[in-house]
Amino acid sequence: MQALIETLVKLQTIELDRARLSQELRALPAEITQAEAALTASERQSAEASAALNREDSLRTRLEREIDAHRQKAARFRAQLDSVTTPAQAAAIEHEIQFESAEADRLENDEYASLERTETQEAALAQARARVELLAAELDGVRTRVAARQQELAAELRAFDAGREAVRAALDPDWLARFDRIAAARNGTGIARAENQQCTGCRMGVRPQTWNQLREGELLACDSCSRLLYWDPALAPASKAPQPEAEAPFGPGAGRAVRRPRQAGA
Ligand SMILES: [Zn+2]
Repeated sequence: MQALIETLVKLQTIELDRARLSQELRALPAEITQAEAALTASERQSAEASAALNREDSLRTRLEREIDAHRQKAARFRAQLDSVTTPAQAAAIEHEIQFESAEADRLENDEYASLERTETQEAALAQARARVELLAAELDGVRTRVAARQQELAAELRAFDAGREAVRAALDPDWLARFDRIAAARNGTGIARAENQQCTGCRMGVRPQTWNQLREGELLACDSCSRLLYWDPALAPASKAPQPEAEAPFGPGAGRAVRRPRQAGA
């Protein structure tokens, strides 16, 4: 019985470690996706800053054309002043000159404001481009690190698989099937240590008689969580214990003896 317990505990450790490695392996691509998303976002910011600069550029080209047109009109009106014959004509032309000059001045102010915006946008673009470079380098780093870790994990998993197969082969098939069934339903823990008259898998109490049987080295089942239950005086309380699950209390914990698939001495 002691050998069976030890083999089951060993199998559980392997299965849990293996599951942890598999989970880490599955989580790795997300790191790349995240770094890619950050880079894409900063590239978009850079493109937006660049587009804003282009818009200001086009705006100023248009403004300059319009300013020129107003200035030219004003100059033409000024030339007409020489040939006016009445004060009313002169006043009308003066009015036109004033209007064209005022329009040119107003548009020049717009152009100045655009230049000021451009200064800010150029700084934003420089910042965005620096960030793109930084994030691109970071993405390269993440890809390299993830690829290396993937290889490491794959190698570790292969090593685990070899050890796992050996341990599973050493187990009685009925016990193995039973362990697998419980483990599948209990986050990978098919066997739990009893400690202080409690199942460390679900934290429910075991009744005194069960506790006594456990202390005599029997392999029982927890009435609350169905995990195989054993007691090991050699294990310190702080050693690897299955994580407790939140489960509804199950009356006064009354352990029931496991019906052994056969009188396996193991
Ligand atoms: Zn339990």
